[in-house]
Amino acid sequence: MNDWTQGTAGIVFQRCSACSHVWYFRRSFCPRCGSTDTTMVQASGSGVVYAVTEVMRAPSEQLRSHAPYAIGLIDTDEGFRMMAHVDRGIGIGERVRVRYIAFGDAFLPQFTRDLS
Ligand SMILES: [Zn+2]
Repeated sequence: MNDWTQGTAGIVFQRCSACSHVWYFRRSFCPRCGSTDTTMVQASGSGVVYAVTEVMRAPSEQLRSHAPYAIGLIDTDEGFRMMAHVDRGIGIGERVRVRYIAFGDAFLPQFTRDLS
């Protein structure tokens, strides 16, 4: 299954078949119960902003042309939390949807206000 870390647009997370725990960073076993019976699931790309911060000085040359930009922690509808770019001006508690922005030859997820 592909996602943005593999160069295509999509967010993939993992779910434990034993205890139903969900998490974002890929690993070979469940961080809650230790089961190795896990599945990859495509996320809907919807969630709520848990925290947001504005970056005025980019940490790398590659990001410099994007600054200032905002980084948020998103509580996804599927139950895992992920860090991603968010539109500037979005606040904590707002509903957001993902879109993908070209970044070099890759795609980065960026969350935008969900107006639906
Ligand atoms: Zn588990």
